[in-house]
Amino acid sequence: MDTALLQEKNDPMGKAIADYFATGKAGKLRVFSSQFDEDEIPVKHLFRTFRDMAKLEQTALKLAQGKILDCGAGSGCHALELQQMGKEVDAIDISPLSVEVMLKRGVVSAAQADLFNMAAVQEYDTVLMLMNGSGIIGKLENMEKFFMKMKQILRPGGVVFMDSSDLKYLFEDEDGSYVINLAGDYYGEVDFRMQYKQVKGNAFDWLYIDFQTLSLYASKFGFKAELIEEGKHYDYLAALRML
Ligand code: SAH
Repeated sequence: MDTALLQEKNDPMGKAIADYFATGKAGKLRVFSSQFDEDEIPVKHLFRTFRDMAKLEQTALKLAQGKILDCGAGSGCHALELQQMGKEVDAIDISPLSVEVMLKRGVVSAAQADLFNMAAVQEYDTVLMLMNGSGIIGKLENMEKFFMKMKQILRPGGVVFMDSSDLKYLFEDEDGSYVINLAGDYYGEVDFRMQYKQVKGNAFDWLYIDFQTLSLYASKFGFKAELIEEGKHYDYLAALRML
């Protein structure tokens, strides 16, 4: 993702979240990509409660303990559930409008911040990155930067819970074989751009990563990856434990 903080004028998802919060409905949150056809994010989904969350998100919320960082917290759906469970959570997001909504919805600690520029030192027992949370890493080349940041902000024994998907199914041929250009960029590296009404966001990188590749990078940078749960469609929840 574009790691700079957003401004309201280029914060389409935040605008959609703000509209939905204010009126209970929102227009189309459109998603463009050079790799895929135009798509849409149902804004209501960003306000899901525990009941409507994917099973692996529910698992992540249950396993989160100690002081928790909800990274890329959006409307605050996970942070609010954690608070309900009596857990201590800081929520951050680069979107100013989302942070405003989180505070209005009752998230006790919500701040506009970019994960990669956070000043926290050994503060968190758990970092949560949910709804293809690996996306925030952007590209494989940012893996080192990501794990160094986690080493800095996690307490000893700390853990990151992250969900992601293996996009290989998009490249599956009719005979079940995979047509992946091994000389090209990693197949999970995607670019997106969003638009909500007249608000256009800048293009950003978003990483989908298969569990094996994630494990390789984790061990290279001092973490152990564990497959906690698999979802219904090539998605999974991983725990990344600091060694
Ligand atoms: N976790 C929420 C929202 C997911 S959308 C949910 O599950 O509903 C991804 C969110 O990450 C967006 O709100 C986006 O603004 C935020 N984000 C992207 N890059 C970020 C970064 N570098 N630091 C913090 N937040 C980031």
